[in-house]
Amino acid sequence: MNRKQRPNDWAKETIRSAGLRVTPARVATLDVLQHSDSPMTHGEVSEALSDMNIDKATVFRNLNDLVSANILRRSELGDHVWRFELIQDSDQEHSAHPHFVCVDCGSVSCMERVELTKRSQSLSLHFGRVTEILLRGHCNNCS
Ligand SMILES: [Zn+2]
Ligand SMILES: [Zn+2]
Repeated sequence: MNRKQRPNDWAKETIRSAGLRVTPARVATLDVLQHSDSPMTHGEVSEALSDMNIDKATVFRNLNDLVSANILRRSELGDHVWRFELIQDSDQEHSAHPHFVCVDCGSVSCMERVELTKRSQSLSLHFGRVTEILLRGHCNNCS
């Protein structure tokens, strides 16, 4: 998919081709997440859309619709809060890039270029199916 199109065109096209109805609220939701370089909580997305008078329940419903349509991924990174982010073209099928969570400030960063080696992937199968890779530590702003 071509991301150089105007963002709204890209969002509309993405929503339409997933078989969902294109609504201003869905386009705005996707637009916010496209411009975020880290996963966002429902609260953060609602906050970003507050100018548009989209209520939190609508935001929540739209986020979940976009997850069901495989446009967004929903992750829980150890603090019992769901975060939403775009599924990147570069992500391997069914497995997301790892995330780095700062134990001091709670910020979450996408580690897009970090991946398990093939050997690590096959070794991990002894334990189960990995759905989330999480690294914790002190971010550069805190250490
Ligand atoms: Zn930090
Ligand atoms: Zn991410």
